[in-house]
Amino acid sequence: QAKGEGKGRVAIFTPVMHRAARERVQLISELRRALATDQLEAFYQPIVDLRTDSVAGAEALVRWRHPERGLLPPAAFLEAAEEGGLMVELGRWMLGSVIGQVGRWSRELTLPECFRVHVNISPSELRHGDLAEFAADLLQGEGITGRYLTLEITEALLVTRGDVVDRNMEALREIGIPLEIDDFGTGYSSISYLQSLPAENAKIDQSLTSGLLLEDRQRQFVSAILDLIHTAGMGAVAEGVEERGQADLLRSLNCEYAQGYYFSRPVPAETMRDYLSGARQLAAAADDTRWA
Ligand code: C2E
Ligand code: MG
Ligand code: MG
Ligand code: MG
Repeated sequence: QAKGEGKGRVAIFTPVMHRAARERVQLISELRRALATDQLEAFYQPIVDLRTDSVAGAEALVRWRHPERGLLPPAAFLEAAEEGGLMVELGRWMLGSVIGQVGRWSRELTLPECFRVHVNISPSELRHGDLAEFAADLLQGEGITGRYLTLEITEALLVTRGDVVDRNMEALREIGIPLEIDDFGTGYSSISYLQSLPAENAKIDQSLTSGLLLEDRQRQFVSAILDLIHTAGMGAVAEGVEERGQADLLRSLNCEYAQGYYFSRPVPAETMRDYLSGARQLAAAADDTRWA
């Protein structure tokens, strides 16, 4: 009986399902090859400090330069990675890529004081024994500390957190890598975990940001969530900011950071470098005299 089907129902494996299953198996083996041959790439999306309108960091987002299908977004392959047991390897590849990149930037550029790259971490990576040790070794190899990194975790992980996860979170804190709650407000939020959670920031999900200008109610809702985040002693990052009005409103609600297409889409490392060196301005700069 297939997973998710009601009791007593017999799942019929149709030819269409056969094809889907075959394609999935194919995707998993292509992804395994992609990991071995460096077809993956970290893109970076600037995160802006709304109080100073300057770049405070970037989120690293995985892309796959597929030899036939072109540049693929995570939605096209993360599920396959999970299913194929490749998430830990993919996460480690990303950490290696990002830490190497940050090491080069830190040597070649003067990075902003508070600069951090935010890396998405899947639950399986935190449940896997030695994430902190792995990161510490990479950092040491680059001669940098954890101050340039923060790891994004989802609420889903927190409700099922066990010993290994707790140990990893503690070890990450010891090497100076803070945690951040991603997609805040979409998931399994039990408000009580906020009190015990060692996270520095929370990211307000795009689904909340997107309605900001449309309804008064939505604005009040986001305002209350920001209060909650601040009361818990965290900073707030708003995702999915696409218009100037959203950025202005978030600033007036004391949201510290924002990211979204209004400032920049996720870009290749070279373009992110141009943002950091001042060779390129954020899109928002053209739209707002404060960016001049
Ligand atoms: P996320 O962590 O919530 O990342 C934000 C997503 O919103 C990114 O999609 C980004 O491109 C998109 N985005 C940013 N600004 C805007 C905007 O203004 N409007 C709209 N419509 N979208 C915006 P992306 O790159 O497709 O990534 C999707 C998800 O895949 C991420 O959501 C994250 O959960 C996951 N992901 C990405 N990279 C990694 C990775 O290296 N490891 C793991 N475990 N997950 C990853
Ligand atoms: Mg994220
Ligand atoms: Mg997010
Ligand atoms: Mg999101």
